[in-house]
Amino acid sequence: MIIDQAMEEIDMSRVLSPNYRFILFLGFDVDIDSAEVWRNADYIERSYGRYGAVKGVRKVINILEIFGVKATFFVPGWVAENYPEIVNLIMTSGYEVGAHGYLHEKLDQVENEYDLLCKMDKILKPYYSKIKGFRSPYWRFSEESLRYLVKLGYNYDSSLMDNDVPYIMDIDGSKLLELPVDWRLDDWPHLKTGLISLKDLYNRWIYEFKTATRETLYISLTFHPQLISRGSNIELLKRIIHKALSMNAQILSGRELCETIFSAYI
Ligand SMILES: [Zn+2]
Repeated sequence: MIIDQAMEEIDMSRVLSPNYRFILFLGFDVDIDSAEVWRNADYIERSYGRYGAVKGVRKVINILEIFGVKATFFVPGWVAENYPEIVNLIMTSGYEVGAHGYLHEKLDQVENEYDLLCKMDKILKPYYSKIKGFRSPYWRFSEESLRYLVKLGYNYDSSLMDNDVPYIMDIDGSKLLELPVDWRLDDWPHLKTGLISLKDLYNRWIYEFKTATRETLYISLTFHPQLISRGSNIELLKRIIHKALSMNAQILSGRELCETIFSAYI
């Protein structure tokens, strides 16, 4: 199985710029209603995700602009086809676009995975820089996904949870960087269910920042514009970025992390 192969763990002290205490990677998954369409949900169910297109992405960008910080927006190909104004807004605002499947599929449950990834890649091509990043929907993979990504020229993936610092994989002779994620550091399981208050989640993530300054020097936070932008949720985004900056976080996009790590290691 390809994802069993060796990982070259990154020493983040070689990557962190002087005067910063840890690196923070902000990833926004722009699902809109793609996941609902993939599972044939009706128009009413799809409305929750559509908030991301109606208001969510714009509200998130407003916050990022207030602080002048970088971020990466992972977009399904279908979203770029159906909401091109949203992807154009992300691009014209100066943010990185990464890929996020075609129709937010569970890639381990589709028969034509490579064709879907090719379709996604073709649609998103106009929005990529020379660095191509990918995040799998639901953070689910098939055994072949990473090999397909390398074949399509991707430089980094951000879907796996088997480390708490980035690492480099050698796949078919090509290097692929992994920027690990974690359910604990994702807004969805916490805020969609409402099992934890905004204040408690804020406090929990501050503990994570403190731990990162001592140990990993790396934290990846995942947000969904359709969720984090609603009502008072947006305050969490605002306050967490403010706090991170006050703790001397170096906030980098996936593209910047990839360039910095590859120049230090390859
Ligand atoms: Zn997603």
